[in-house]
Amino acid sequence: MRQLLGKIPIKYRNVTEEIYLSEFVRCQNCQATVPTGIEVVTVRKEGNSKTIIKHGWFCRGHGAEYATRALG
Ligand SMILES: [Zn+2]
Repeated sequence: MRQLLGKIPIKYRNVTEEIYLSEFVRCQNCQATVPTGIEVVTVRKEGNSKTIIKHGWFCRGHGAEYATRALG
């Protein structure tokens, strides 16, 4: 299960943070493995190609800020 919460355009051109709700995530901040966490994929789009430049996983607590921004 992976559910897109929202996409956040960030300051650089063509770069977007995609925020997902994902199952069985190991938080990179506190190392806890949680049944449902936040996955953050930073992608750069150039023409038709899409490159993942950063990939992060967080528990609900550490990913709360991302989730709030994605839904806001
Ligand atoms: Zn955490």
